[in-house]
Amino acid sequence: MPKLHALTAKEIVEKIRSKEATAEECVLSVFERIHEAEDRVHAFVTLVEEEALKKARQIDKKVSEGKPLGRLAGVAIAVKDAICTKGIRTTCSSRMLENFVPPYDADVIERVEREDGVIIGKTNMDEFAMGSSTETSYFGPTHNPWDLSRVPGGSSGGSAAAVATDEAILAFGADTGGSVRCPASYCSVVGIKPTYGLVSRYGLIAYANSLEQIGPMARNVYDCALFLSVIAGHDPKDTTSVKASAKDYTEFLKNSVEGFKIGVPKEFFGEGTSEAVEKQVWRGVHKLEEVGASCEETSLPSLEYALATYYIVAMSEASSNLARYDGLRYGYRIDRDNGDWSTVYSKNRRIGFGAEVRRRIILGTYALSAGYYDKYYLKALKIRTLIRRDFEKAFKKFNVLIGPTMPIPPFKIGEKIQDPLALYMCDVDTVSANLAGLPAISVPCGFTDSLPVGIQIIAPPLREDLMLQVAYTFEQNTPYKNRKPSLK
Ligand code: GLN
Repeated sequence: MPKLHALTAKEIVEKIRSKEATAEECVLSVFERIHEAEDRVHAFVTLVEEEALKKARQIDKKVSEGKPLGRLAGVAIAVKDAICTKGIRTTCSSRMLENFVPPYDADVIERVEREDGVIIGKTNMDEFAMGSSTETSYFGPTHNPWDLSRVPGGSSGGSAAAVATDEAILAFGADTGGSVRCPASYCSVVGIKPTYGLVSRYGLIAYANSLEQIGPMARNVYDCALFLSVIAGHDPKDTTSVKASAKDYTEFLKNSVEGFKIGVPKEFFGEGTSEAVEKQVWRGVHKLEEVGASCEETSLPSLEYALATYYIVAMSEASSNLARYDGLRYGYRIDRDNGDWSTVYSKNRRIGFGAEVRRRIILGTYALSAGYYDKYYLKALKIRTLIRRDFEKAFKKFNVLIGPTMPIPPFKIGEKIQDPLALYMCDVDTVSANLAGLPAISVPCGFTDSLPVGIQIIAPPLREDLMLQVAYTFEQNTPYKNRKPSLK
């Protein structure tokens, strides 16, 4: 029998319901795995073993009293350290928030707790979610479980690595320009960036509000759909939350794409895309054709400008959002009495933030400053509209669009960190879904030289059902979800 930590969320809930296993056993098994693997992977920044076991025992008590159980009963969930957890340190992997303990829970945390999910710890990430490799973390990098010398992707790299290694059954990520899908692809797990507004951002530490969404990560499409069903829904505390009624996304998981029209934008295979990735993704496209979809190459010309547009918008919003970290109200503070306000503010921020965060604040401030605003920020907003329109047009013809999640396979730790532009280029295929507010998923699509490749499926707004049906069909007709990483 497989170890409990290797089971899916669905299997764990069933086992606990039928009393074949207790929640405590399930959570203990996950912590055993963490203690075995964590020194090689470094997926977590903070673990809360005692609290998790306490919660598990409460669930077992419910079982013994015959009380109804939630949809995630006894499922061990890791949380990206950008999502606020009441009483649990939330650092954003930054020195600035090294000792920050939120006084409240994010909306999504309340939702999983209501469904008896068990929070096990906070995962490593790029500092303030700025990056694609988890190397900008103040706490050091996370390692890719498929090849420990390589990056797990980012910024939700700890979450993806934890799920891939069985150090968590499910994990929360957050995706501003690919941060759920990139590490999902690099660690061979499933990750969803929901439609903008579908999942509450209340309690998510802001990087670029107009782009980001919290998203679920899991080892298979079913678990990811189940997780999404729990966390989606209207939240009056988030003014951008859509008033869509709650859905059970697992109902849409049909193993069929009969009659589906799938577009393959050629811009997703642009300059810099590795041949190996291209080949593997096309193999995936042909697989979908084999099982009944009609796939056709198409073009969304504005995608050529997506990356530049994304970085202007994201950095501009970041420069504004991160102004609150002055070290006076909270956050890193060097020495309160040493100089005037501006000197203290600058010093706190120079030491509290890492190099990449400082770079983005400076570039964002520049793009928003008088004289440059029209040239950069306003222009970017106009192109953002063009990108949205190109997608609208494409979705008149196709049910979903498909392409690679990442243009290249996971790279070596240290290989790109000195070259910010090379790192930004990795986001070329993921950022457009954020600019247009669309749902997108990354699903395992095989391996090249033993390194994972992910395929990305993008759907019209609030059509997570279509996206999930294609993803599920793909998964059911390919052998990739059963492979486990070697941790070497
Ligand atoms: N890699 C992208 C960036 O650095 C996306 C990050 C994210 O989605 N949080 O901005």
